Amino acid sequence: MTGNQYWTLADGPLPSFPQADTFVRKEREVPTPGPGQALTRTIYVSLDPYQWYYARERIAPDGAPCHARTVSQVIKSKLNGYAPGDFVFDTNGWAEYGLIGEGVWRPAYMVPRKLDPSVGRISHAVGVLGMLGLTAYAGMDLMASPKSGETVVVSAASGGVGQIAGQLAKQRGARVVGIAGRDAKCRFVTQDLGFDACVSHLSPTLKADLAAVCPAGIDVYFENVGGKVFEAVLPLFNQDARMTICGTISTYGDEDGGVAKRAALMKLAEPIFKTRNVTAKNVEARDFAEEYLDEMLAYVGPLVAAGRVKYREDIRTGLDTIPTAFIDMMRGNNFGKMLVRVSSDMSDAVQT
Ligand code: NDP
Repeated sequence: MTGNQYWTLADGPLPSFPQADTFVRKEREVPTPGPGQALTRTIYVSLDPYQWYYARERIAPDGAPCHARTVSQVIKSKLNGYAPGDFVFDTNGWAEYGLIGEGVWRPAYMVPRKLDPSVGRISHAVGVLGMLGLTAYAGMDLMASPKSGETVVVSAASGGVGQIAGQLAKQRGARVVGIAGRDAKCRFVTQDLGFDACVSHLSPTLKADLAAVCPAGIDVYFENVGGKVFEAVLPLFNQDARMTICGTISTYGDEDGGVAKRAALMKLAEPIFKTRNVTAKNVEARDFAEEYLDEMLAYVGPLVAAGRVKYREDIRTGLDTIPTAFIDMMRGNNFGKMLVRVSSDMSDAVQT
């Protein structure tokens, strides 16, 4: 085994939007597992918008690999219940190797767990059968609870969370409209995912385009983007509409991380929210992890296995590609849930 290659943050203040030189590639020794720990080799690194917040706030320990949820394989183990060869969900970050078990830093709700490759793709553990599925399930089914015939709008509709949220609303009989960027993404949303319509936020006539495909107004809005996309949605809210605020990615490159813009939009929305009794609630996957992860897996897992919920991944290859893939995802140059495969995935051999 050679060293452990990883990406960490450059020293000094970070730019408001990630750049290639924001990240530095380094190597250190592959860690040795102590009692109660296991060494794992990373297979998939999940790239998600919240990682930029973690970076800006320097939430991971100084000098550590940039934080990410990962899917890995156990190499050596002194941890009960984990044996070499086991596939696991863990948080190795942007690194080839990491440890799980006693004394290893990780965000509180990202508890390592073993994965069974015979029941689905292991990469789904950082996506549709993990935090993204949970976010969509919590924000759509548990919070917004769309009813049959209602109009549901989902922004960033072809992305990791958006594609799942919209399909879950379809499962409940709603009429689902997506908002996405490029034409190819809009086509995917309607033709592959089965949304009833999709409009592009790149269109100069976004407001009119959205109004045209929502003739009965909007009952539920699943917000992933913010900014001008929210401004197009706002006038169309019906009486007693519900809005789940999952994220506002269009503001994440702002100097203040989008705080001022989000506050300004909420102020703009206030009169409409008041007169039409619109409720807006934030969803945080971490708040649902302990109580609802198993429930979500029991519901969404069979839908994915049966092909009734489709899930597109954008998988790049090699540790080298991580910063570019991350910046691509932040700019909308991903097509589906962004992942990087940093070592070979041998789980296919046991998949059914
Ligand atoms: P995606 O796979 O959806 O990738 C991000 C997408 O955002 C891009 O593909 C792009 O899609 C869109 N986008 C980027 N910049 C802009 C912009 N300026 N205007 C409009 N669209 C833009 O990522 P995720 O599914 O991981 O995340 C989607 C949202 O969900 C984010 O806001 C994220 O913060 C949030 N989230 C929240 C969680 C929670 O617990 N609250 C958990 C996970 C995610 P397009 O090309 O179609 O514009």
